Amino acid sequence: MVTHLFWMRNDLRIHDNYALNAACRNADARVLVLFIATPAQWKAHAMSPRQAAFIFSSLQDVQRSLAEKGIPLHSVECDDFTASIDVLKSFCQQHQVRRMFYNYQYEVNERDRDAAAERELSDIDVVSQGFDDSLLLPPGSVLTGNRDMYKVFTPFSRTFVKRLHAGLPECVSAPAARAGAPLRDMPVLTPFNYPFESVDENLFPSGEAAALARLRHFCQRTVTDYTENRDIPAVDGTSRLSVYLATGVLSPRQCLHRLLTEHPQALDGGREFVWLNELIWREFYRHLLVAYPSLCRYQPFIAWTRGVRWQNNPAHFTAWQQGKTGYPIVDAAMCQLNKLGWMHNRLRMIVASFLVKDLLIDWREGERYFMSQLVDGDLASNNGGWQWAASTGTDAAPYFRIFNPTTQGERFDRQGEFIRTWLPALKEVPDEWIHQPHSWAEKNHVTLDYPAPIVDHKEARRQTLDAYEAARK
Ligand code: FAD
Repeated sequence: MVTHLFWMRNDLRIHDNYALNAACRNADARVLVLFIATPAQWKAHAMSPRQAAFIFSSLQDVQRSLAEKGIPLHSVECDDFTASIDVLKSFCQQHQVRRMFYNYQYEVNERDRDAAAERELSDIDVVSQGFDDSLLLPPGSVLTGNRDMYKVFTPFSRTFVKRLHAGLPECVSAPAARAGAPLRDMPVLTPFNYPFESVDENLFPSGEAAALARLRHFCQRTVTDYTENRDIPAVDGTSRLSVYLATGVLSPRQCLHRLLTEHPQALDGGREFVWLNELIWREFYRHLLVAYPSLCRYQPFIAWTRGVRWQNNPAHFTAWQQGKTGYPIVDAAMCQLNKLGWMHNRLRMIVASFLVKDLLIDWREGERYFMSQLVDGDLASNNGGWQWAASTGTDAAPYFRIFNPTTQGERFDRQGEFIRTWLPALKEVPDEWIHQPHSWAEKNHVTLDYPAPIVDHKEARRQTLDAYEAARK
């Protein structure tokens, strides 16, 4: 009997998994699944303990689902990518694997590792096959008329939609039960040797069934008002599916098909298209990583921005991390991040802008801190978001467009509902003063247990413009 191996990575699901489906196509083959944890690599990239915990519980869930189908999932731990190739090779030798199936990862180190793995396996006569699985359309397939990668999102999105009109990517089914299913004994899964921090199970229940249920609920109920609600952090108006997409518990094809089942007009400019467009942002940033691998090395896309002289004041950085800047919307957002490991998109833009443009701290410091906290941390989207906010990326905010944290708060949390949820010290401050609580406190001779603004926005804005203009000369 021939043995097939599915090398599972950030595709922790059994439904609509291209490589798993291909590994199981031959009904006579014995199919094994291997997950290799690489804590040293995760540490180097500041993966958050919450994401590690989420991956581990998703792995337990997927192991149970695979066992029902008669497929054993093994998990092995080693330090880094180099060691993972040795683990893979000896696993193949030990189990007489003939074919290895995997889904591509697009970050540069992962691509190098996979190329090396294919070479090593080929030396022992194992044939490898990779799949474009984590995207709706593969990198390099959405190009300008000159066959270049788009540098601006809107035309990328337009061409992307045209491609979807020409043919939707198909979802594939979960493997059928194999001979011997269900498995009686499952291989032991030992928690990774990595710090774990628990994830709020109400917000982010682990497992495929929970992810699919949330997707269905969102597409049936919430998505219709997404346009109105998506910028209001006090409203639960977005899908909160990012963690499932980042870890591959859910595929973007499942999102697309569920959306179109509920709202067939979404692809033709229906109001639900706005949500699909966010999934296309996710694609855009991944396609960019492949076209410009230096992004994986944290290089700015706009070369002259390398010359910006950051102030990198450690006390300011700590105040930002801890939500003690004296700007309520920024501080409430950072408390949400620190507590939940997730932050609303509008707030990610506000706090990123504040760190870079009000505190003149290198965007890479913020990017790394986000990774260390986010349960949905994802190199492509995080790097894209930070480079957008720092005006260093493709189609980024122009450097002279600087968010005013007070007016951002007034626009998107008018009555301070979100702020009061996260900053109890401001509970008594009236709505009209919630974005400038110290002015209210001074007027009313009240002492607030809340820090004064650490910088003056107007002055900080001027310094930032000077720093960017000096770099551009
Ligand atoms: P929804 O609004 O429901 O959107 C649906 C899905 O589309 C999301 O789950 C996500 O996969 C994708 N998406 C939405 N907005 C964006 C966007 N701007 N860029 C790329 N994909 C998007 N997203 C991550 O998944 N991981 C990150 O590490 C990450 N870091 C970010 C850092 C900064 C500075 C900024 C500005 C944005 C970042 N984002 C990141 C994008 C975005 O904030 C989150 O995807 C979104 O808030 C997740 O919430 P949701 O699932 O409810 O999104």
